[in-house]
Amino acid sequence: MGRESHQLHIFFFPFMALGHTIPMIDMAKLFAMRGCKSTLLATPHDEPTFLKSIAKPQDSGFDIDVITLTLPLKDVGLPEDCDNLSKAATMEMRKQFMTAIAMLDQQLELLIEKLAPDCLISDMFLPWTTEIAAKCGVPRLVFHGTSAFSVAGTECVRLYEPHKKVLCDSEPFLIPNFPGEITLSRMQLPDFVREETEFTKFYTEVKESEKSCFGVVINSFYELEPAYAEHYSTILGRRSWFIGPLSLCNKDIEDKAHRGNQASIDQHDCLNWLHSKQPNSVIYICFGSMANFNAAQLHEIAVGLEASGQQFIWVVKKDPSVEEGKEEWLPDGYESRMRNKGLIIRGWAPQVLILDHEAVGGFVTHCGWNSILEAVTAGVPLVTWPIAAEQFYNEKLVTQVLKIGIDIGVKRWVRLFGDSVKSERVEEAVKRVLVGEEAEEMRRRTKALAEMARGAVEEGGSSWSDLGALLQELRLQRLAHCKKI
Ligand code: UDP
Repeated sequence: MGRESHQLHIFFFPFMALGHTIPMIDMAKLFAMRGCKSTLLATPHDEPTFLKSIAKPQDSGFDIDVITLTLPLKDVGLPEDCDNLSKAATMEMRKQFMTAIAMLDQQLELLIEKLAPDCLISDMFLPWTTEIAAKCGVPRLVFHGTSAFSVAGTECVRLYEPHKKVLCDSEPFLIPNFPGEITLSRMQLPDFVREETEFTKFYTEVKESEKSCFGVVINSFYELEPAYAEHYSTILGRRSWFIGPLSLCNKDIEDKAHRGNQASIDQHDCLNWLHSKQPNSVIYICFGSMANFNAAQLHEIAVGLEASGQQFIWVVKKDPSVEEGKEEWLPDGYESRMRNKGLIIRGWAPQVLILDHEAVGGFVTHCGWNSILEAVTAGVPLVTWPIAAEQFYNEKLVTQVLKIGIDIGVKRWVRLFGDSVKSERVEEAVKRVLVGEEAEEMRRRTKALAEMARGAVEEGGSSWSDLGALLQELRLQRLAHCKKI
């Protein structure tokens, strides 16, 4: 293989959805920058995105590559182009998609046998990889892609089932055996936790595989959530390494602008627009890579933004069947009235580039963990609008523990299409996070965390050291393994 003998070789196997692949690509880059050989496993759909993301590190001499696997889509009855979660439109298709992914086991085993990596880092949604790694004598690390707060909080709810002891869906309960007196209601839990579904079984498998694997890598930094980091390792007994924020491995404009999909706006046009604005005067609104809203909700957001009188960048998922400017959710003459005030990006935004600009003073987010951490890293306070997944947990971390955001007031977990929020609430939240004493206070706190985040990934910082400790353990594992054979 021509690899220096002391160099560790790591396989990175993400789940095929952008909120999972983006941080995994960053992680592969980070490990390569620390001297490892990084191999990303991709599906044909993701291959171009992966190759584009690693082109620059490769040019800089880092040892990073992509291997493409073949998804057996036909075998499970899916069309050939349904090779990403975002393309699986129905629940049935999602189920088929998960079955196809689990059928990658043999390909993975053959690859591990052939290339003999020292470690497999794979997504939580690939629980079957624990067994394959064990069979091949390779340590598997799990990547959840969320905060320690959420991983530990969801585990406490799963173990102690407080939601089964309340009388109705809206009655609050305390997360048991969990620091900070955090309350949730049944309505804010995922459907598969509220009642037994097929996914409940799969989720149990995910959690069991986590217990028996080598450990967990977390895209967070210790100083952000020390009580929950400790809780996760000492109370729940998981070995974990905090190595984030991973997005900080993207140093220049090009790196920041080219994460995930092709941006729907030229990065220089976007920056020029932001350069023309005063510091902290723009609100950024984006709901991640999956969530979407119906026309009525988009209309409420549009009206609320205009009424707030604040400047904004608003990312809206493009509906290819509707001509630009003719979308039914846009009030009459909206874009011409908002010409210098608001920028609507239809499709994909260069999010990290936008958040890092000094003109951005607030972020309305669906509370996907990547988005929250990117905002923290940029020192931007939040308006929380959780929708699904573990987002209601992340909201609590932001609003109650870190106190760097205000909630917009949604109460109900909904798969993909959010709970409805009226324009008045949008207007009020946007004003509150951008202007006034409370906004200043939240901004001050977020900026302090941003400093800590940067310190954590610098040489000698907590995340830098945790990654160093992990690499050292993997070297020892390799030595032990070599002695055995
Ligand atoms: N993202 C982006 N542009 C967009 C939408 C999302 O760059 O228009 C990125 C964002 O920076 C983050 C990821 O996509 O890294 C979304 O992950 P998150 O955990 O926030 O939410 P998810 O998409 O998983 O719901």
